[in-house]
This record gives sequence, C-alpha cells and structure tokens, in this order.
Amino acid sequence: MENLLKILSSLKEKGLYREDFRYLSSEQAPRVCIEGKEIILLGSNNYLGLCNDIRLKEAAIDAVKQYGLGSGGSRLTTGSYDLHKSLEKKIADFKGTESSLIFNTGYMANVGIISSLCDREWVIFSDKNNHASIIDGCLLSGAKLVRYKHCDMDDLEKKILEHRGNNNLIVTDGVFSMDGDVAPLPDIVRLAKEYGMITMVDDAHGVGILGERGSGTASYFKVTNEIDIQMGTLSKAIGSIGGYVAGRQYFIDYFRNFARSFIFSTALPPSFISTSLKAIEIIEKDEITRQHLLEMANWFKNRLIKAGFHVTNTITPIIPVVVGDVKKTVELSESLLEEGIYVPAIRPPTVPKGTSRLRISLMATHTYHDLEYVMDVINFHGKKLGIIEG
Ligand SMILES: *Cc1c(COP(=O)(O)O)cnc(C)c1O
Repeated sequence: MENLLKILSSLKEKGLYREDFRYLSSEQAPRVCIEGKEIILLGSNNYLGLCNDIRLKEAAIDAVKQYGLGSGGSRLTTGSYDLHKSLEKKIADFKGTESSLIFNTGYMANVGIISSLCDREWVIFSDKNNHASIIDGCLLSGAKLVRYKHCDMDDLEKKILEHRGNNNLIVTDGVFSMDGDVAPLPDIVRLAKEYGMITMVDDAHGVGILGERGSGTASYFKVTNEIDIQMGTLSKAIGSIGGYVAGRQYFIDYFRNFARSFIFSTALPPSFISTSLKAIEIIEKDEITRQHLLEMANWFKNRLIKAGFHVTNTITPIIPVVVGDVKKTVELSESLLEEGIYVPAIRPPTVPKGTSRLRISLMATHTYHDLEYVMDVINFHGKKLGIIEG
C-alpha cells in the first residue's frame, strides 16, 4: 500500500497525475454542460456530429422497442441478433472486404485480433505512435515486438532486415490518434509484399473522414485489397459503440473461433447495433458534411500555425497543438476551461516525453463563429504563458 501511495505522489510531482474527470451533463455536442456551465467542446471524437443525431436516436429507440435492452449472452451463445448479421454485412460492403466481425470496443478488437493471430513464433513490426490497444494485443500474444520510428519507412525496412522471422505482421494506425497524420500505407504494402508479411491497419480515426464514401485510410490510398486486416471502431465518427475487423472470409472465420475478447464477452445490445447501421448508411451518402469538416479543419489549422503554434503534420480534424512541457500544457488547458473552452491536455505516457499537447479536434457541427472565439482565447493565453511570441 505504501508503495502505491509513493507512486501516486511521484506522479503528482511530475504533473502526470490524473485528477478526477470533467463530468458532462448534456449530449456530446459542440457546446456541452460541464458542472453547470456551458462550454465549447473541442476535443471530441464525435467528428461528424452523429453522437447526438436525431436519426441515430430514432434508430436506437426503435430497436429498444423491438429488442429491449441487454443482449443476454455472448455472440456464441444467445447474444447474436439479426441486427448483428446486418451490421457485419454492412461493414464488409462499406470497407470493401469479403466479411467482417463486430467486437464490443476497438480496444477489444485489437487485443483479440493480434493475440489470436500471433504467438511466440511471430515478429510484429509496430509504429512507435500506435495506439495502446495495439501494444497490449502484441504483448498478450507473446510475439517479438519491434517498434519502428513513426512513419519512417527506412527504419521499418532496416528493422525488418534485422529482426524478421518466419511469420511477420506489420501493424499501424491509419490516422494517428494523437497526431492526426496518416500512415504511408502504399510504402507499407510494398515492404510487406517484398518480405512476405501480413498487414494490419487500425482505422479508428480514418473511418468517416478519409477515402471514398468515408470508408477510411486504405480506400484513401487505394490499397484496400492489399491490406489483410482492417480494424476500426464504431465509437468515433460513427457515433455509437463497438469495434470491428474486416478482411478475407478465412481471417474472419479464424477470429470468430479464436479471438478471446470476442468469445468471452456479452454481445453489444441491439440498440447500439442499430445505431451503427444507421450511421454508416448516413456516412456513405453524405459527402458534403465530410468535405465541410475537412475544409473547416484545414482553415483552423492554418490559423493556429499563423499565430505561431506548433501543430503536427495533420490532414484530419485532429489538430494537436504541441506545447512540450507537461505543466504548461495543463495550465493552457485549464486557462481555456476558465474561458469556457474544453480541450484535453494529453501527456505521457499517452504521447512521448517532451511532446505534451492540447489535442484539439473538430466536429462538423462546430460553427466558424465559435472557432473564431476559440482562436482569440487560445492566442491570448498562448502569449501569456510564453508558448507563442507576444
Ligand atoms: C480509440 C482507439 C481505439 C479503441 O477504440 P474504442 O472503441 O474506443 O475501444 C483503438 N485504436 C485507436 C487508434 C483509437 O484511437
């Protein structure tokens, strides 16, 4: 016990302690209610504004009326509904693959996919900035984990030549969650072909944003058929909850039989499956909202750069402002909150040391008017804290 207390107080000294959370008492929207105050929300993954879309709400309510609430069992026992089957077909069509399988979260998908596919005989090559759920899947698998420099193909090839074994996987985020930049999939595919390796893309932040019909990063680069395993989440742009894997039928059959996070957990409730189905239907047709979001994000990014902030190399609605110092990052985030703007401060171990940042992300439903106000406030406090020149 004493040891735990010591660890916690050392976290506090370093400014890395996670205090109690901010609690919302309203919908996930551009303006939310936090502790009785109206706040502009600027760090949500609800990119397309679907979390509180009336069409999704109606889909959920109708499903509750027909199917009730809990699903009652694992997918392998009594928890599979016709809606699960429809959604798996929908995801496969949307992603352009033979088949798909739904997990309860993206985290569970990554852990289940990687730990069932790979074992000690495998070598996994993973981008340094990959999401924690990928790392956890790798660790659970017992495979040899080799991390290459972020999006650095020379480093990847060097490490392949040095470490490759009989069975090899290259795994990468499609869009990096804390950077907003995109993995060089065509180069990854070329290396995978050359050395006979399996490829996997985690498209948690690509789906709904990039590619034809918003179908994701593989489509954006036109390498859908060359990526073996496309994983993603239903919880971000799609506005619901869940994870999935899409790919060839034999991969999906394999995961259905061996992915433990799929097998040993109660299925998602029909209401949320229905919500996801409706969301994908909307996303496929709605080019306008997607274009609008990307344009607004580009405008906002350029405003920040012009003001002197250090912004990552992003092409998505994720617009991280890298501050560097942990305490300054938290101070900036807290100053903004006092002015009615909530942007989460992201610190190690979520991002590498010395790269603490505000992870700004936009929703299609934000207004230019609110964003102008945000720019004024962030400029003022950026100068006051010495983050940009005043
Ligand atoms: C959010 C996220 C996940 C996990 O998805 P959840 O559905 O939230 O569990 C996996 N990978 C990446 C890159 C993510 O950003």
